[in-house]
Amino acid sequence: MAEETMPSSIRQKPVYRFAPSPNGPLHLGHALSAVLNHDMALNNGGRFLLRIEDIDQTRCTPQLEQAIYDDLGWLELSWEEPVRRQSEHFDEYRMALHRLIEADLAYPAFLSRGETRAIVGAFEAEGGIWPRDPDGAPLYPSVDRERQKAERAALLASGRQHAWRLDTDKAIRAARTPLFWQESGDGATGQIEALPALWGDVVLSRSDAPSSYHLSVVVDDALQGITHVVRGMDLFHATAIHRLLQQLLDLPQPAYHHHRLILGTDGRKLSKSEGSTGLSALRAEGATPSDIRRLVGLL
Ligand code: GLU
Repeated sequence: MAEETMPSSIRQKPVYRFAPSPNGPLHLGHALSAVLNHDMALNNGGRFLLRIEDIDQTRCTPQLEQAIYDDLGWLELSWEEPVRRQSEHFDEYRMALHRLIEADLAYPAFLSRGETRAIVGAFEAEGGIWPRDPDGAPLYPSVDRERQKAERAALLASGRQHAWRLDTDKAIRAARTPLFWQESGDGATGQIEALPALWGDVVLSRSDAPSSYHLSVVVDDALQGITHVVRGMDLFHATAIHRLLQQLLDLPQPAYHHHRLILGTDGRKLSKSEGSTGLSALRAEGATPSDIRRLVGLL
């Protein structure tokens, strides 16, 4: 049945989400994202969900999670319950990872951060230019990807700590089709070609966390029926990896809207340690929710 001929009761409502990580206090940048998502849902007859992205159990705390609810409540936003907390869904991410391993599109990655740094450093000391991802981080070296099956199996059997990484080139070939996403944000708009190769072999799970941001975000957006992903421009290029994973895991693709970032006085993106733009600090100084909307350019 064509969408427009469906009775409105079963026509899909747009579904938006704000997905903060409780690893620091929310600042004005988060306020812009949260309010935009909330208002777009309201204006389009849609739903607004909150998702707590707490897979990194070493940095996320219950206090910071509570502070998110307090800040968003203070901003007069309301969201559907129950809130999805990623730490309660590790099994779902593990299943997605296993599909990629079964399809031979993921490999165990044994290099520690220090070992990776040493390989990159030695190469650059010789005058080489090591490729970097759109965030400026060096791409993961190829040693683990190139290991023979038997060697890989022996290393796994020895119990060596490892992450799992996507074999991105192989995954791009497996996807078989050029990938695009629909973008309506504050930068380039329209059909954007996804270029996942720029990221190299991204992490799918770590030795200390059974999932990664990239894997859990695509699994959750699909499971929660998210139709519109509205988030900061800093995640624009990461969408290429998300589109690739969606294609490999047969997940639907939402529309994307990457909004402008709120910059600090130094012209750089706000960080969670920036106290002066923290929402609770602004609240303590007497700011009102309307002041926050004004500060982020929404009033
Ligand atoms: N959890 C991510 C963050 O706090 C946002 C993820 C997303 O919106 O896709 O930056």
